[in-house]
Amino acid sequence: MSASNPQAPLVISTHDLGRAAGLRKQFSLIVPAPSSFGNAVIGLPEGLPIKLDLTLDSVVDGVLVTGVAALTYQGECARCLDPIEQSAEIEFQELYFYPDVAISAEDELFRMNGELIYLEPALRDAALLDLPLAPVCSEECLGLCAQCGVRLAENPNHVHEQVDSRWQALADLFDTKEG
Ligand SMILES: [Zn+2]
Ligand SMILES: [Zn+2]
Repeated sequence: MSASNPQAPLVISTHDLGRAAGLRKQFSLIVPAPSSFGNAVIGLPEGLPIKLDLTLDSVVDGVLVTGVAALTYQGECARCLDPIEQSAEIEFQELYFYPDVAISAEDELFRMNGELIYLEPALRDAALLDLPLAPVCSEECLGLCAQCGVRLAENPNHVHEQVDSRWQALADLFDTKEG
């Protein structure tokens, strides 16, 4: 299978697969992450390598692409806000239609351009679904004190005075009313 074009690394050619249904090609390639790839809390710096393991199966109407993208994303821990870097494997599958097959307007996004398949939209959608929305540096991360922001892992005995006297006065007031 031909390697991808350096000018368009997420475009793959199906030339070697052939047009008959029931053919299969498997190959791997490494592509640079496209820009603004990821979700609101974690992302992939543009150009960081993504390893793609792809299986192409020719079917009657097109080519079914099944892939696994191995990548390392960067973000911050949802509990302690430390920067984190974690690896992930994202699975995706999409049917790309041959240029001469009649399809609905919404499927036009997945129309092949001649023998070429543009993988980026499917990969981006899968990344948005698969990557965690609240990544943590470790499952045991204690996070930060909600009142002052101190790192609890480094201050295991950290506590605050329970009630501020001004709030105590307010609480007394409510007690009186209810009683
Ligand atoms: Zn953390
Ligand atoms: Zn505190």
